[in-house]
Amino acid sequence: MSKIEFKAESKRLLEMMINSIYTHREVFLRELISNASDAIDKIYYKALTDESLTFNKDDYYIKVIPDKQNRLLKIIDTGIGMTKEELEQNLGTIAKSGSLAFKNETDLKDGFEIIGQFGVGFYSAFMVADVVTVKSKALGSDEAYKWESEGADGFTIEPCEKDTVGTEIILKIKENTEEENFDEYLDEYRLKTIIKKYSDFIRYPIKMDVTER
Ligand code: ADP
Ligand code: MG
Repeated sequence: MSKIEFKAESKRLLEMMINSIYTHREVFLRELISNASDAIDKIYYKALTDESLTFNKDDYYIKVIPDKQNRLLKIIDTGIGMTKEELEQNLGTIAKSGSLAFKNETDLKDGFEIIGQFGVGFYSAFMVADVVTVKSKALGSDEAYKWESEGADGFTIEPCEKDTVGTEIILKIKENTEEENFDEYLDEYRLKTIIKKYSDFIRYPIKMDVTER
């Protein structure tokens, strides 16, 4: 008897993900900060194993920047970044985890605590955002690329400007509806509370910059 593989309907899967995996919408920030921390862990690991690289702790941090005026929330990291192919693979396939692959390929020593494994956390951004933009420049690459998606309909990738290695996630926060408030994800104090609640264990500094009050 031959075995037939299940096919995944990505659009439906993504909708299901966005609407039912998480009970609390606010955890999107935990997911994005965890990814940022994993990306810094990877560059740290590379520096340990590659003599041409140095790791200066002060250069590695995560930044959360709310911009109320433009309804944007940015999560920036100085981690390892993603190539065009990695953007396509890791952010284009539900349940594909570049971090799990990294863990499997790498003989991790004490102190490495890469969090990612299931390859779904990133998509939680669509619980709070209509549009998600990811600008990234990979370690060792001269080119930067921009990945952009409005959710279930797919994504685009094109070259973009980015001076430094790392990743910048830009969320276009949803408009409030009668039942739901999304403004809170642009509020500095609310964001700080969410970070304290879910990301207190992160080993890199999480800085906050406010663009517009
Ligand atoms: P997981 O973290 O469980 O692997 P995610 O859906 O959160 O799954 O992320 C998918 C993959 O996308 C990650 O495994 C990683 O390879 C890549 N990725 C996501 N965010 C970043 C980031 N800020 N920097 C570098 N790579 C990232
Ligand atoms: Mg993750």
